[in-house]
Amino acid sequence: MPFSSWKPGAPCLAFETWDTTNPNPPSRRVLGAPSLTRLCLCGKGGVARISTLLLAALTLMIPATASAQQHFDGAKAFEYARQFVAIGPRWPTGPGHAKAEDFIRNHFLRLHDQLQQDQFIANTPIGPVPMCNFIVRFPGVKPGVIVLATHYETNYWLRNINYVGANDGGSTTGLLLGLADRLREQAARSKDRKLDGYSVWLLFDDGEESINPTWTDSDSLYGTRHLAAKWAADGTLRNIKAFILADMIGDKSLDIQHDSNSTPWLVSLVAQAAKKFGYQRYFFQTTEGIEDDHLPFVQRGVPSVDVIDMDYGPNDSYHHTAQDTMDKVGAYSLTVDGDVFMETIRLLNQQ
Ligand code: ZN
Repeated sequence: MPFSSWKPGAPCLAFETWDTTNPNPPSRRVLGAPSLTRLCLCGKGGVARISTLLLAALTLMIPATASAQQHFDGAKAFEYARQFVAIGPRWPTGPGHAKAEDFIRNHFLRLHDQLQQDQFIANTPIGPVPMCNFIVRFPGVKPGVIVLATHYETNYWLRNINYVGANDGGSTTGLLLGLADRLREQAARSKDRKLDGYSVWLLFDDGEESINPTWTDSDSLYGTRHLAAKWAADGTLRNIKAFILADMIGDKSLDIQHDSNSTPWLVSLVAQAAKKFGYQRYFFQTTEGIEDDHLPFVQRGVPSVDVIDMDYGPNDSYHHTAQDTMDKVGAYSLTVDGDVFMETIRLLNQQ
């Protein structure tokens, strides 16, 4: 969105050099880079006319490493998503679903992370269906857990149209794989290999989508309904400080709605995190009540937020169609998401 779909009147970030049309854009913001001709396309003078000499001086004043450390690597998350989506359709009971499970399982086993597989049988309109949630744990020194979640499967009822869910399920799987990299690096820097705040658990949940085309309470959210009930029964739920859900936020044209079913203070915290990076325009400009994987946790009193962009393509025309492909997903959007998720974790740790 920053450049390709900038609208008159929208704020313009000075020194922003992202190119969302490039499938492999630079992973970091660069100050004063040669591509500054793209800088601020709204430029009615001002910033765009800053002399190259001044920009060169600015470049020298700000070490590249400083900006490199500040931003999440959206390009890497995009590459994870691309590989995952290349599996093809991932509908429950289909061959791609088994491959998707293998992809997630093998990734975390290879990296020696703490992987738990939560296999269960879902009662669905097509009978019992085996499903699997994956939980990856990064222990922290502080008692309590922050859960970051996404669903990873595609819709059973879209199984005949080569629907690959690049944004819906794919992009946020890539996002969480990228976040895992950051958390692993953070833990590796400490003596006891623990995060310095709360534990963070990544949840790749199954069966978010309904089996039939019509979404109902009993035909949807299979994985999270199962897990929330299980964690309520074994006491895990008491330790969860926040449940943060990512859904459909790889969209190049990022506009994340404010979900009125989410916990208000946690929404405010995400907004505060977005503000730190100047990302306010992507967040919470409109309000909707959204039913998604956070609901089973909301209903059990867990502070929860759904970070979702329900507006995908002109008049939402890419949503749940064969048009939901990787060319609609942007590395820049994943950078925005990753920055905000990491900052939200940092803010939660301060509480
Ligand atoms: Zn969906």
